[in-house]
Amino acid sequence: MNRLIFEPAGCVRTVTKFSDCKKCVEACPVDTISIAENSLPTFVPSVCVECGGCMGVCPSEAFSLEDFSATEFFFQFAGSKESLISCRLNVPCIMALSTEHLISLALVKDELVLDIGHCGECPYKEPLYELIKGSLSEANYVLEACGSQKRVVAKELGVEADESGNKAEPSDRRAFLKALSLKGAAEAKREFEAMVEKSDDAQKIHEVDIAALAKIRKKELPDKRKILFTALKRTPKPPIYHTVAEEDISFVSQKYIDKDSCTNCQMCYRICPTGALSSDTNMSRIYFDAMLCVKCRACHDTCEPDAIKMQPVFEMKEFFEPTQRLLASFTLLRCDECGLPFTSLRGERVCPRCFVEEQEAFELWGIEEDGNKTAIFKDFKKEDEGR
Ligand code: SF4
Ligand code: SF4
Repeated sequence: MNRLIFEPAGCVRTVTKFSDCKKCVEACPVDTISIAENSLPTFVPSVCVECGGCMGVCPSEAFSLEDFSATEFFFQFAGSKESLISCRLNVPCIMALSTEHLISLALVKDELVLDIGHCGECPYKEPLYELIKGSLSEANYVLEACGSQKRVVAKELGVEADESGNKAEPSDRRAFLKALSLKGAAEAKREFEAMVEKSDDAQKIHEVDIAALAKIRKKELPDKRKILFTALKRTPKPPIYHTVAEEDISFVSQKYIDKDSCTNCQMCYRICPTGALSSDTNMSRIYFDAMLCVKCRACHDTCEPDAIKMQPVFEMKEFFEPTQRLLASFTLLRCDECGLPFTSLRGERVCPRCFVEEQEAFELWGIEEDGNKTAIFKDFKKEDEGR
C-alpha cells in the first residue's frame, strides 16, 4: 500500500535550500514525514494513514493521494446537491481540504456543513482536530472579510457511511481507522503501530530529476488557487473592502521591500514558485502580485539581507481586483571594468565582483591610485569601514 504521493517539483524546498517550510511535518498525525536539514520531505509509506492532512496544509500542493483529488472533489461536490463533508462519506479527513477549498466551496454552495462528530474520538485528532478548527475559523473569517454572508458550518453529526447511499470506497487503512471507537482506540492504535513496526517498508527518498526541474521553471499556481479564482468570479464585490491582519490569513500575503537593504540579488523572484514575485527583462524592477502568492515564505527564508517584508495587513480588495505592484526599481549600469551590467545601488561605477577583485589587488600589491577608479574604491572602502 503506497497511496500518498509526493511531487518534488511541488515542494518549495526544491526551489530553495533555505526554505524552512515544515507544514507537512507538523500536520502528520503519525510523525511519518520528516525533513533533514536542507532536504525534501521523506516518509515511510507503511506508516502513513492516508488522512491527507499534509495535502491540506501544503502551500504548493506537493502531496496528493492516489484515490482522492481535492480538485476533483471540489468540482464534483460543487456540482452536486450534497452539502455535507464527512470523513465517513466523501473525504479521507476534513483536513485533506485546504482553507482555500473550504472558502471556495462555501462561496459556490448554498450550504456547506462539516461533520466534526468523529473528530473528538479519532485516534489521530492530534494535530488534525486543531488544524480543522483553525481552518474552519480562518475560512469563516475570510468569508466575512469578503463581505459574503456564506459560512462553513461545523456540526457534530457523526454520520456513518451506512446511513447514506453515498459511501466512498475507503482504503483498508482508512476503514481500519473509521472502525475505531473511543473505547478501543488506544488498543487499536497500539496494534496498528505494532503492525507498522513489523513492516520493512523503506523510507522514501525523493530525487529532483530533469522533469521536476522543467516543472519548477514553469512557475505554476496550485489548483486550489485557481479554484479560489473561479469561486471569486461568481461572488459579488463587497461595497467596501476590508483588511485582515497578516497573521490571520495563512495562504496569501502582501509584501514590500526595504529599499535600503535590497541588493537586487534576484533571488526572491527567481525562486518564487508561483511567479508572484517577478521582474522585467532588464532585471531592474521587482513586481509583486499578491493573489499569486501562496505564503510559502521561501522568498523571506532566502533573502539574505532580510529586505523582503510581509505587510502587517492584507487588503481584501486583492481578492476582487488583483493588482501587480512595483516593489522596487534599480539603476543598471555597465561596469567600467568588465563591461557587464550590474545594479548600481549608490552611484558605483564598477560591479561588486570587480570591486572586490581590485580591492584585493590593491591590498596585496599596493597598486597605485589612478583617478576615478581608485576614488571609487576609496569610497567603497570608507563605506565598508564605516559599517
Ligand atoms: S512545501 Fe509542502 S511538501 Fe514542502 S515542506 Fe512545505 S508543506 Fe512540506
Ligand atoms: S512571494 Fe509568496 S509565493 Fe512567492 S516565494 Fe514569497 S511567499 Fe512564496
